[in-house]
Amino acid sequence: MAQRTALIVYGHQSSGSFNAAVLDVAVQELTEQGYRVIVSDLYAMNFRASATRDDIIGDLKNSELFQYGEETMHAWMQGRLSDDIVAEQRKVEEAELVIFQFPMYWFSVPAIMKGWIDRVLTQGFAFSLEKIYDNGVFKDKKAMLSFTTGAIETMFRSDGINGDINVTLWPLQNGTLHFCGFEVLAPQIFWSPAHCPPTVRTTMLEGWRIRLKGLLEEKPLTFAPCELFDCSFQGGFMLWPKVREERELQPYGITTGHHLGKSVPPDNQTKAQPTNEK
Ligand SMILES: Cc1cc2nc3c(=O)[nH]c(=O)nc-3n(C[C@H](O)[C@H](O)[C@H](O)COP(=O)(O)OP(=O)(O)OC[C@H]3O[C@@H](n4cnc5c(N)ncnc54)[C@H](O)[C@@H]3O)c2cc1C
Repeated sequence: MAQRTALIVYGHQSSGSFNAAVLDVAVQELTEQGYRVIVSDLYAMNFRASATRDDIIGDLKNSELFQYGEETMHAWMQGRLSDDIVAEQRKVEEAELVIFQFPMYWFSVPAIMKGWIDRVLTQGFAFSLEKIYDNGVFKDKKAMLSFTTGAIETMFRSDGINGDINVTLWPLQNGTLHFCGFEVLAPQIFWSPAHCPPTVRTTMLEGWRIRLKGLLEEKPLTFAPCELFDCSFQGGFMLWPKVREERELQPYGITTGHHLGKSVPPDNQTKAQPTNEK
């Protein structure tokens, strides 16, 4: 049987950090399970975050009006993307599991990791007009966010000062990972490791090790399947009227984003739902 590959896209500057400890646990545990583990250590690689003309080798399609998305799609088709992007795309192709390991920066990923997302997940390679969400390019792969915060957990509750973590995670988990087709596993959140006792940090690392043992068997998060929408420009990519009518009778919206003005399904972006309800 071919060896399974996991890619960890890692974004922390310090080898003594808690993120580094979390990374080490994942590398050890997945390796023990027989995975080939590839780590893209973005700061160590000095990975370039900005999406520029330098990402395309050779002539541009339209040098008068530079459009990054158009040009990188064209370059991808012709094998003219820069070497650092191609190397990362190969890793994604080989991986059945992609873990993003990072400290939360401004409710999101650090800029260097956003740069990886902007530059590596190019049109054509990671999505196309026809291939998005559950019909997406990476629908046979799994991905997840694993991150640390400065905030304590209660700050990210729906009645906490930062607001609901489910809302915070929607852009990355739906707008990036699920958009490209990945099945998204529930995030691993290490709340405020800098402000808790050492024993709590040890327990968090142990919990992560235990979770990794069954990670690939976990049910992914729930998103709204494309079939619920009229995916045409005429239909505006909106819910089919019949689906909307049916939903009116339900207590919750479909997802965190598709809340339909109702209550958001509980823990939609943080836990796999216990039922098969979509
Ligand atoms: C630009 C910026 C924006 C930010 N935005 C946000 C935000 O929007 N929301 C938010 O909540 N936070 C935010 N933060 C805070 C940031 O998320 C936290 O500082 C970060 O997540 C902490 O993780 P760390 O790995 O850097 O912790 P570290 O400070 O490296 O580690 C915490 C503790 O763990 C210890 N440790 C290391 N290894 C081990 C080990 N093996 N076992 C046990 N303990 C160990 C370390 O010694 C340290 O005492 C932001 C920070 C910056 C710089």
